[in-house]
Amino acid sequence: MENKVSLFNTLTRKVEKFVPNEDGKVGMYTCGPTVYHFAHIGNLRSYIMEDVLEKTLRYVGYDVKRVMNITDVGHLTSDADTGEDKMLKGAKREHKTVMEIAGFYTDAFFADCEKLNIKRPDVVEPATNCIPEFINMIKALIGKGYAYEAGGNIYFDTSKLKDYYVFSSQSEKELMVGVRDDVEEDTNKRNKADFVLWFTKSKFDNQELKWDSPWGTGYPGWHIECSCISMKHLGEYMDIHCGGVDNIFPHHTNEIAQSEAFVGHKWCNYWFHVHHLNDRAGKMSKSSGEFLTVSLLEEKGYDPLVYRLFCLQSHYRKPLEFSFEVMDNMTSAYNKLVKKIGELDAEGELDKDGFDSFRARFEEALANDINTSSAITVVYDVLRSDLNDATKFELVKSFDYVLSLNLTRLQGEKCEPEVDKELEAYVLAKIEERKAAKKEKDFERADAIRDELLAKGIRIKDTREGTVWESV
Ligand code: AMP
Ligand code: ZN
Repeated sequence: MENKVSLFNTLTRKVEKFVPNEDGKVGMYTCGPTVYHFAHIGNLRSYIMEDVLEKTLRYVGYDVKRVMNITDVGHLTSDADTGEDKMLKGAKREHKTVMEIAGFYTDAFFADCEKLNIKRPDVVEPATNCIPEFINMIKALIGKGYAYEAGGNIYFDTSKLKDYYVFSSQSEKELMVGVRDDVEEDTNKRNKADFVLWFTKSKFDNQELKWDSPWGTGYPGWHIECSCISMKHLGEYMDIHCGGVDNIFPHHTNEIAQSEAFVGHKWCNYWFHVHHLNDRAGKMSKSSGEFLTVSLLEEKGYDPLVYRLFCLQSHYRKPLEFSFEVMDNMTSAYNKLVKKIGELDAEGELDKDGFDSFRARFEEALANDINTSSAITVVYDVLRSDLNDATKFELVKSFDYVLSLNLTRLQGEKCEPEVDKELEAYVLAKIEERKAAKKEKDFERADAIRDELLAKGIRIKDTREGTVWESV
């Protein structure tokens, strides 16, 4: 099929025409959440934009298979191999087991995704499901001379690669800025950039999750899980790998190192990275005490889809600053838009040429490196155009496959039979009259009113909440 979509590729630092390995098919991998706490709305910005990418590819005709891992083991508080195990930290905080924490926050993550209309990936695989695959890959890397044992752990030897810093010509120092927390020195490493594939000698006495391995009882490092899980479901060649920008280094850099050492050829062609959501105090993070969640937005009265609109209004490659003032403005923009769409008369003949020309404009906006704000402009242009209502409605419905903002939500209400205001006023007046008659113990009059209404096709019923009526 025609390759219509262009994407910025972190690997080449250029916007490139997207050409998948197999014509018409896309294998896409997304780094899933570390399930030791709720996702914050910053994490969800990444997942919203990745959802738009997936749906854009499907919209223009690709057959997409998307895989996501769930990080339930191995992710330490530093993205390098130091600090506390995040899952253990969550379990301690809540006096639960690691698996209880993982189950609870995995469900919470998908509940948030549902509220934001983020489609569940075709495959979702928790890391703890794949221990044999991790062990096999590590064994092969040792066999090929890319990994070594030191101080009881297994490390990847980055000096064996021609180019470890594949993502750019940036220096190691610059890349380290992306690392989230302090990095302490691990004296077992032969080279500073080496990373752990398997922790055998756990530095945490109470490490709950441990598995047998050829190197002793232990648990996997964080990076190995994404290489193995993606290959398990997508094979040795992958089209697109996604994540937030903080994943570029060291996580994705290490994924490439070990994957390509393992398969012996280029592994993934396109790298899609979403910039961060910040609040006024800076980057949002789960480790920093209070953070913004979808539930908190709801408690404050915001529709989660208004947050989705807020994300779509800016480009995924720009940092975005969150504020409640902007959410207020977005709420009123969203309500107006939905109301306008609700007022369209959806019945009628489709103007095929008009439909095709606006659909092409919408696709073009998204195909240009997922320019979601331009795509939303096309929605407004459709509504402003002189197309008939039915064509406008069909276009918006079609666009909403990608935007997923429930834009046609008020159309359903319009289909409900209109209440006859005059009849309603008449019935309510009769109900009041009957109530007064009953109060005066004039039951004859009360019954006469009931019969009079019934003769007109209205049945009334006395309930604990008062008298209600229906047409019969
Ligand atoms: P984690 O659960 O920490 O593994 O992160 C889940 C996803 O959210 C990863 O793709 C991160 O890169 C991404 N992420 C983390 N913080 C932010 C943020 N403030 N804004 C956008 N994405 C983020
Ligand atoms: Zn990952």
